[in-house]
Amino acid sequence: PGTLYVVATPIGNVGDITLRALHVLNLVDAVACEDTRNTRQLLSRYGLNKPLIAAHQHNEREIADKLIARLQAGERIALVSDAGTPAVSDPGARIVDAVRAAKLPVTPLPGASAALAALSASGLVNDQFHFVGFLPSKAGQRDTVLHGLTQVTATMIFYEAPHRIEETVAALASVFEPQRQIVFARELSKLFEEMHRCALSDALSWLGADANHQKGEFVLLVEGVATDIDTQQAEAERILTILLEECS
Ligand code: SAM
Repeated sequence: PGTLYVVATPIGNVGDITLRALHVLNLVDAVACEDTRNTRQLLSRYGLNKPLIAAHQHNEREIADKLIARLQAGERIALVSDAGTPAVSDPGARIVDAVRAAKLPVTPLPGASAALAALSASGLVNDQFHFVGFLPSKAGQRDTVLHGLTQVTATMIFYEAPHRIEETVAALASVFEPQRQIVFARELSKLFEEMHRCALSDALSWLGADANHQKGEFVLLVEGVATDIDTQQAEAERILTILLEECS
């Protein structure tokens, strides 16, 4: 049988495609994609022209059956999304699940991921992260999810679109402790890329300080809750400072 290649594509800068992704996209018989116009444009930038199969959120199961038949017939197929890594806050997971269930080979081609790009350049020092992705759009559901995250010690990663950024940041600032750090990672790999780190208590005023701060695509990183050890250490340092001041 053929293989399903799960291929990451750039999240902005077209230079972020990998050599292996280009090789595989050139080799496959067809490309299953989220939006055919978008993928056609991307492929043509690299001089590639392949038959495209529209595989979006609403027809994944139906498309999976078609892809399985083609893979069984020996075809090689790539699966891409509009940007970044398929199946991460993007369609693709159901197709991969069905293809695996049919005992057909699936191979990931690693590449751009907004979450990991943001985390890598955030400077937040924590070996663990908790990927949340998009929060629910309804305020009540969103707040329920956020309240469920208050004891997470790992760095949390959120995705957000520009039209909701202010509302989401306000919600984060009202649920988590104000001294926690937040990192805004905006328009990564694009012309107006910007990363800004501050305390949650200052997050809304930073957003409001310049209309440009609210534009584009965002990854938001929020520091996890301080552990007992962190708190004890901070308390020990506070007492030590007081004692040293007393001594001088
Ligand atoms: N599958 C993609 C990935 O691997 O990161 C994510 C796709 S999701 C539909 C789109 C969201 O990813 C955006 O709303 C934003 O939160 C984030 N994102 C994508 N590209 C980005 C970029 N260039 N800069 C910052 N965030 C980005």
